[in-house]
Amino acid sequence: MATCDICGREVKEVFTCRECGKHFCEDDGNLAEMLCVECMDRLIEKQEEADIIDDLQDMEQEE
Ligand SMILES: [Zn+2]
Ligand SMILES: [Zn+2]
Repeated sequence: MATCDICGREVKEVFTCRECGKHFCEDDGNLAEMLCVECMDRLIEKQEEADIIDDLQDMEQEE
């Protein structure tokens, strides 16, 4: 048995996040990306910020 660092449950199998190295169960991360939910949230926020910056740059170029 292993313990999920995100939800604290004992599960049969945990996976290691490639960003923070935490162990997460299949419910608490993206197995395809090997990211825990915490890092997924952080990366999505970063991506949204990058999109906003792109939008601003696009607007400046249009004028
Ligand atoms: Zn979990
Ligand atoms: Zn993580």
